[in-house]
Amino acid sequence: MTLLMTESAARAEGLHREYGRGAAAVHALRGVDLAFGPGTFTAVMGPSGSGKTTLLHCLAGMDRPTRGAVWWGGTEVSRLPERRLAQLRRSQVGFVFQAFNLMPAMTVAENVELPGRLAGERVGRTEVLDALARVGLAGRERHRPGQLSGGQQQRVAIARALVSRPAVLFADEPTGALDRATGHEVLALLRAGVDREGQTCVMVTHDPVAAAYADRVVLLADGRVVDDLDRPGPQSITDRLSRLGG
Ligand code: ADP
Ligand code: MG
Repeated sequence: MTLLMTESAARAEGLHREYGRGAAAVHALRGVDLAFGPGTFTAVMGPSGSGKTTLLHCLAGMDRPTRGAVWWGGTEVSRLPERRLAQLRRSQVGFVFQAFNLMPAMTVAENVELPGRLAGERVGRTEVLDALARVGLAGRERHRPGQLSGGQQQRVAIARALVSRPAVLFADEPTGALDRATGHEVLALLRAGVDREGQTCVMVTHDPVAAAYADRVVLLADGRVVDDLDRPGPQSITDRLSRLGG
């Protein structure tokens, strides 16, 4: 047990997150314990409002749990002061959003460099071009996001998340704005990062076909983990979700 814990790339321990106070309080997470081993690909699913985004934000150090702890490797991050957390987040985690969140006036290369530059770091040209090559966008560095397809824009966002070589990549519905064929490109890319480079990936999705790219599917309902499936196929995921009423 102890060994497993120290080996996790990311871990949540007794995680609670409440928004607001008193009668208006929303209890988004109600005691979540999860560990993500290095080089694993996990899909997080569950009905709308079950706490998936809140969980991802807490795991990625973008939100603070009300109670409980988040660990990246051997470091407890949920108690770090903001400056230190921001610094560590740059090197330890990457985050991909459903809506890509690219800067339209900037080139692809500038978008990939932006988080590092905002953190006052010098991001090398080679690192940027490497990250773009890894997502299959070599030669596109001078394009603007608007000149690219949705799938290509999401791949720019993945390059931006991976340029700092984070231990864990978090993705919140990364294919939610894409059609199925384009979504496949993005999922295959996440899968390849796990298989070829030992990337750890935690992805929220509504789509059982997308979730079947993962090694493991964690189901949330009402802020709790209600199932943890090992390599389920799309049909068994669909069956389990429909029993949840999601
Ligand atoms: P999911 O991603 O599974 O749809 P969320 O994590 O976004 O769920 O939300 C879980 C619950 O927390 C929901 O009831 C939602 O309305 C509530 N919630 C999320 N963010 C906030 C916030 N900033 N303030 C108040 N309530 C929130
Ligand atoms: Mg969400």
